[in-house]
Amino acid sequence: MQLSDMGASNSCFAAVVVDIPSRALSEPFAYGVPEQLACDIELGCSVLIPFGRRVALGYVIDIAPELDELSFVEGVSPARVKPLRAIVAGSSCASYFAEAALWMSGEYVASLAECLRLFLPPGGTPRLKRRADGTYEVEPPAVAEARERVVSLTIDGNAYVPPANATRQRQLLAALSCGPVTTRELNLLYTDLSAAIRTLEKKGVVQVEERRAWRRADSGTSLSSACAVQPRQLTAGQVEALDAIERARRERAASVVLVDGVTGSGKTEVYLSAIERVLADGGEACVLVPEISLTAQTVGRFRSRFGESVAVFHSRLSAGERLDQWDMVRTGAARVVVGARSALFCPFRNLKLIVIDEEHEQSYKQGSAPRYHAREVAAHIARRLRIPLVLGSATPSAEALGRCAEGSYLGQRWQRVEMPERPGGAVLPRVVVADLRREFAAGSRSMFSQVLYDELMGVAERGEKAVLLHNRRGFAPFLMCRECGCVPTCKHCSTALTYHERTHTLECHTCGATYHVRPYPAVGSACPKCGSRYLAKMGLGTQQVEDALRAIMPPHVQVIRMDADSTKAKDAHKQLLEQFDAAECAVLLGTQMIAKGLDFPEVTLVGVVNADYALKMPDFRAQERAYDLLEQVAGRAGRGERPGTVVIQTYLPDNPVIRAVAGHDRSLFTAYDLAQREEASYPPYVRLANVVVWGRDERATRAYAERFAALVREAVADVSLAFVDPVQEGELSLADPARSPVVLGPTSCVVERAKDRFRFHFMVKCPLGYHVSRVLGECLRELGSQSDISVSVDVDAYDLM
Ligand code: ADP
Ligand code: ZN
Ligand code: ZN
Repeated sequence: MQLSDMGASNSCFAAVVVDIPSRALSEPFAYGVPEQLACDIELGCSVLIPFGRRVALGYVIDIAPELDELSFVEGVSPARVKPLRAIVAGSSCASYFAEAALWMSGEYVASLAECLRLFLPPGGTPRLKRRADGTYEVEPPAVAEARERVVSLTIDGNAYVPPANATRQRQLLAALSCGPVTTRELNLLYTDLSAAIRTLEKKGVVQVEERRAWRRADSGTSLSSACAVQPRQLTAGQVEALDAIERARRERAASVVLVDGVTGSGKTEVYLSAIERVLADGGEACVLVPEISLTAQTVGRFRSRFGESVAVFHSRLSAGERLDQWDMVRTGAARVVVGARSALFCPFRNLKLIVIDEEHEQSYKQGSAPRYHAREVAAHIARRLRIPLVLGSATPSAEALGRCAEGSYLGQRWQRVEMPERPGGAVLPRVVVADLRREFAAGSRSMFSQVLYDELMGVAERGEKAVLLHNRRGFAPFLMCRECGCVPTCKHCSTALTYHERTHTLECHTCGATYHVRPYPAVGSACPKCGSRYLAKMGLGTQQVEDALRAIMPPHVQVIRMDADSTKAKDAHKQLLEQFDAAECAVLLGTQMIAKGLDFPEVTLVGVVNADYALKMPDFRAQERAYDLLEQVAGRAGRGERPGTVVIQTYLPDNPVIRAVAGHDRSLFTAYDLAQREEASYPPYVRLANVVVWGRDERATRAYAERFAALVREAVADVSLAFVDPVQEGELSLADPARSPVVLGPTSCVVERAKDRFRFHFMVKCPLGYHVSRVLGECLRELGSQSDISVSVDVDAYDLM
């Protein structure tokens, strides 16, 4: 560590972000760089700075020869600029990190330090520790590099002939004949060769070098589909998609290319081919896949094409593995990164392509601060670096479809390429809708309809495989009429009402409307639409379905359950899939985690136990998610030679989502969904921010949420006087959030209590160009924090529960 001489003059200036996660510290500060530190200072390095009466760590985000040339800090008087104390760690981040972090901090109402930290090596930065006497000490990074020793033949070594009795030496020379080998590998092959190595090193036959060891981030897999054989010929759709990407790359146009291809249409092959070209030009590529589908299978397909130059990032890595993957990218050892959303922040040196697979997936939105959306951050980085962003999906988000329809968004070109066919003429599966209302009317009380039962028996007889989906993601209890399929819905918000068993009420957790209700089997229960008394609560666990399944399946059929409980252990997910892969005849029963990315050619039947759980979540994106889920899970059927069948059980056979999936016609759903969102003013027609306030004291928490909402109402009224009052049942004001901001709530969240905290929220809907982040950030600063009350501001929120 170099300590500066306080008397020295500044040779240049640095903008520094102080590493204290607080919203108040979003601004960088200017510091002088003493002469003796000027050679070592670089963007992204960690520095020790005087801050008020203490010292702190910070990150350098800009360097300039003169104070007034420094970006991010303005109007600083030279007299107030203090010198940096020391440089404590070198840089290890991408060159664009500061600008991107600053953009994120503004866009998502998050502290700058928090956003910057995403771009720093995980666990690899120094920390500041306060000693008992009040002074500070810089602690080295918590995670250390691993080293390994590599043995190789020297140039002269080839000519060496070992003595006849030197077995060890001959073993060693044989092992090295094909190239360098690590001492660890040698010791695994033959027990201790260290004496032979020492002897031959002295003779100049072998040399031993110490080097950085990369801890591998993934274990191998026996799955047959984890390999991507280069197809002999690309489909017309694949060629078109590749051309669009190549054109954008050549023109440095920063275009967004949406590859809109049905499952199995070969999107992954498009990514692989595009990346091949990027690598041939010396560039790097970043591929994001949803955490849930970041399986050995997915990684295997990239490794089989790009070998060791693939780095992998996911949340299950150890700190050491994570740091090594990071450094593989930083040093150029890896030029393709495959990972969950955080892979976007890797220290790329020459990033030329970003790919986001399953673009519509909710997991691209981070659920804790900073609450960024990877698609938006990627689009921003692509704009800055003038590189293409490729989005892939069989069920693109309304946001992506809307922007492609417009042709551009924020000055960036958005274009859609369709891939409607599967290569090799693989046929789409037959989809059968089982109307549970009819089954009910016919007296059936089984959770399997006749058609699903028959199909399952067929699979058992023919010795094939089936996948059975029982989705309960984000489940909130609701009521449904078993005779007509009616689900009570809020008339102001067009989302399903949540049933509260304790108070016998139906509640809307967007606007706060409450209705009393008496569900079946209470006397007087009645469906609001058809009058049937079978208006009952919906709720069936995976375990219950498993029991029922085991009861009907013949004993030679393996039943494998995959849900949050059965996949808790490390690698359990992979093991269950391998078990399914290896089985002769089996049914894989699971939650939404089985719907994504699996490619088992022998699956001939896919069943959906009840599609209505997904359709009736109290969220304006419920239909979109349900469509995605059903389409994805249906895509698991008939991937091989034998044709597939999909059975969807539902009480709502006329729902546009069900009709679209059954008829293989997405437009039936998209047209309906977009019209409904426009009508009710939801994204992509407006922006939506969700503010959640939680605390132990119910009254204080509610009061704080109310004060916050009131401030926001006042602030948005500045721009336009038209805004809606807290919505009361039956009297909805018709202001248009597409033209002026609207505040809804506060009201209690769908999840009213969590970990003994009471949760309240309010929403802001506003026109697309409106700076909702700035308004919310300013109101929050004005309101100030309150002890025991937590706040999250979620711009472009996805989780509304
Ligand atoms: P998607 O990602 O769109 O669901 P995949 O990339 O997984 O589709 O492709 C589905 C299957 O089709 C894979 O087994 C893949 O190897 C194969 N495939 C992809 N492109 C071609 C092609 N041009 N010709 C033949 N087979 C292909
Ligand atoms: Zn409502
Ligand atoms: Zn009814």
